[in-house]
Amino acid sequence: MAQLKLRDVEKTYGGLVNVLRHIDLEIEAGELIVFVGPSGCGKSTLLRMIAGLEKISGGTLEIDGQVMNDVPPAQRGIAMVFQSYALYPHMTVRENMAFALKIAKKSKAEINAAVEEAARALQLEPYLDRLPKALSGGQRQRVAIGRSIVRDPKIYLFDEPLSNLDAALRVATRIEIAQLKERMPDRTMIYVTHDQVEAMTLASRIVVLANKGIAQVGTPLDLYERPENELVAQFIGSPA
Ligand code: ADP
Ligand code: MG
Repeated sequence: MAQLKLRDVEKTYGGLVNVLRHIDLEIEAGELIVFVGPSGCGKSTLLRMIAGLEKISGGTLEIDGQVMNDVPPAQRGIAMVFQSYALYPHMTVRENMAFALKIAKKSKAEINAAVEEAARALQLEPYLDRLPKALSGGQRQRVAIGRSIVRDPKIYLFDEPLSNLDAALRVATRIEIAQLKERMPDRTMIYVTHDQVEAMTLASRIVVLANKGIAQVGTPLDLYERPENELVAQFIGSPA
């Protein structure tokens, strides 16, 4: 059974503008799915609906067989990873990652175990007692990801780093996510980008969004060898 099921999902903002319609999609546990498509096609909207940060206007979203349409974000077993989120400058890496668990009143032992496991997955073990200012940009980003990982979500959602982010950091993020996926093979990740090169290199399957719907779903090879329409062919074939 698919872990995540979208059936005939649609989104209208303010009851007027139809942004997405007839979205049918099934995602299996452990996939690394990339949503790709031109700016403004609804990638962030789709991700935010899955996360529960945006209301679904029509259709159903199921996770593990349970309809999630009206379930609040915190109860979906999903983490929306905000890579650009500022860290608490006065807290160590360990304290930054432990923060959400402290608020949730977890025991010290549970917190330590979760933080250490996350630090292992992100290769942050040597930096746990440092302050953010003593880290590189890439390491800081990993700490930001670590703050979601400690809550042990089954599904991770990443929205593209802002396109004005420098190219080196974009590449670092891509590598980060690929490595993280390797260390957490049973976790599902959905990554949003408008960059087809990023999509082709990261994804187990790519969902191409265009014209308010899904233009094609397939492996990078499927899309490359058998684009189902002109739009997909153009998008996959054009430079970033
Ligand atoms: P993408 O992430 O693919 O660039 P978005 O999901 O951000 O696209 O936006 C899809 C469309 O929905 C765009 O036309 C955008 O202007 C519109 N949109 C996004 N958020 C809102 C909002 N809160 N209210 C009204 N329109 C919105
Ligand atoms: Mg977006």
